[in-house]
Amino acid sequence: MSTTFDDICTFCHEVDGQAGSNLFFDLGLGRSREDYIFHESDHFVVVPCIGALTDWYLLIVSKRHTLSVGWLDEAERADLRALVNEVTELVRRRACAASSSNTAAWTFATRAGPATTTRTSTSWPPTATTTPSSTRSPPPVAMQQCMDWTDSAHRLVQEHQRSYLALGTPGQDWIGQATGAPSQFFRRCLATWMGAEEGTWDWLVFPQAERVQRMITHFAYR
Ligand SMILES: [Zn+2]
Repeated sequence: MSTTFDDICTFCHEVDGQAGSNLFFDLGLGRSREDYIFHESDHFVVVPCIGALTDWYLLIVSKRHTLSVGWLDEAERADLRALVNEVTELVRRRACAASSSNTAAWTFATRAGPATTTRTSTSWPPTATTTPSSTRSPPPVAMQQCMDWTDSAHRLVQEHQRSYLALGTPGQDWIGQATGAPSQFFRRCLATWMGAEEGTWDWLVFPQAERVQRMITHFAYR
């Protein structure tokens, strides 16, 4: 029998609620997909992110096996745009209703604000030279303003065969080429900005199982 992507892909196992290569099952965070899937649309599921650096750190996973947003078709990208807006609003409402200690994710969104200027490009992390812990920051990556990061990612991958880094903020989307950027780039940025413990950006080393369990217990959409 031939091996398919579904046989080896952790995300596909998690979307389908299969054992074998399912981090939620392996970390004891659930026994069926209903235990950790907070929300779903036609093409995506919303789950708490393994390695969550804050209490509102969610992951949107494509139901179809794809390498990145650059490989999504138009209908899937439209679904993703609507879902991001929906999830953003849900998190905003819950974050406002919760104590201030639970609003770190919104701090992240807010911190992205200063880069939203009239310039057409910037570099990330924008605060690398002013953050006290800048020695731990990843090297900056050039980012350009764009209309819609999902469309820009699709173009970079399909027309230019490039990998990308993308960032969507409430007021502005950003796109950049990932060439030279370390893996988990934005996680490294976020961990640095938060003053998190050295190495916390690496979800493989710090899966944050307790935080994910807390999200499942308290913040599920159900
Ligand atoms: Zn997959």
